[in-house]
Amino acid sequence: MIRNIPKITLTDGNSIPQLGFGVWQMPNHEAQKAVSTAIDVGYRLIDTAQGYDNESGVGEAIAAADVSREELFITSKLRNGAHQYDDAMRAFDESLERLKLDYLDLFLIHWPVPEQDLYVDAWKALVALHEDGRIRSIGVSNFLPEHIERIGEATNLLPVINQLELHPLYQQRDVRNFHAGHAISIECYSPLGSGALLDNPTIAKIAKKHGKSIAQVILRWELDQGLVVIPKSTHEHRIRENFDAFGFSLDAEDTAALDGLDDPEDGKTGGHPATMNTLF
Ligand code: NDP
Repeated sequence: MIRNIPKITLTDGNSIPQLGFGVWQMPNHEAQKAVSTAIDVGYRLIDTAQGYDNESGVGEAIAAADVSREELFITSKLRNGAHQYDDAMRAFDESLERLKLDYLDLFLIHWPVPEQDLYVDAWKALVALHEDGRIRSIGVSNFLPEHIERIGEATNLLPVINQLELHPLYQQRDVRNFHAGHAISIECYSPLGSGALLDNPTIAKIAKKHGKSIAQVILRWELDQGLVVIPKSTHEHRIRENFDAFGFSLDAEDTAALDGLDDPEDGKTGGHPATMNTLF
């Protein structure tokens, strides 16, 4: 029997599964295989992006899946080079075509790209697509509080979700307070630190105590905090393992040890939103 994953209700009234599947760094054929496996295992949230160049592979897997469209929660992200309003509209249409879908559950602006300074235009395009019913929920990724405030002021509509790098080495406590204050949900990308945490001795000790894997302990810690997580793997046994982050509890001592791993200076594995200006 497939486990029912808990859901988080977003401020627009839609709900998102708390555990999903990420497909960054997978070419089309690999994404197709991995997403098919993930859907068979029970994942319903799939996270891709125009910049991953694998929406076609994801689309093939969705088309072949033995579950209805309504059961799935499909996310993609607008590429950095398409922030101008008309470009964003066109890029969205192309995403739907590659994914073979007629709507997305969630569409995000991938990065704010401050040097280009067009993310308000991009947000206006997402708002229009949302009003047209072609995107059920709209959000952002890698947005700092100042970027969110600006799009809110321009359109009177805040994103329902911000997808951010978040894991025990990079916990973003102050940023999370801002999001809680605006009821914006957080989706953790690189929830396993893009692999950097998988030999951490502190987490290994906790994992041994519970008879679980390091990845399962990390995901449990994130799920306990009401965060959405989207681990990526190309290996079936890990895809299954990550889906099984339920049925055990971390105690106060475990949680304190994981909380203590925060390293705001050096814990980040990916680019920083203030300086990431690469166009793709
Ligand atoms: P993750 O934190 O999910 O870690 C993935 C790495 O860990 C891979 O090397 C994978 O290897 C390995 N791994 C996964 N599960 C296990 C396990 N149970 N045991 C041992 N190793 C494991 O990294 P990502 O950076 O891929 O982040 C996840 C998703 O977040 C992405 O796929 C993407 O969808 C999203 N993302 C979004 C970004 C954004 O800017 N919005 C930026 C980065 C990611 P293997 O595949 O070989 O199994």
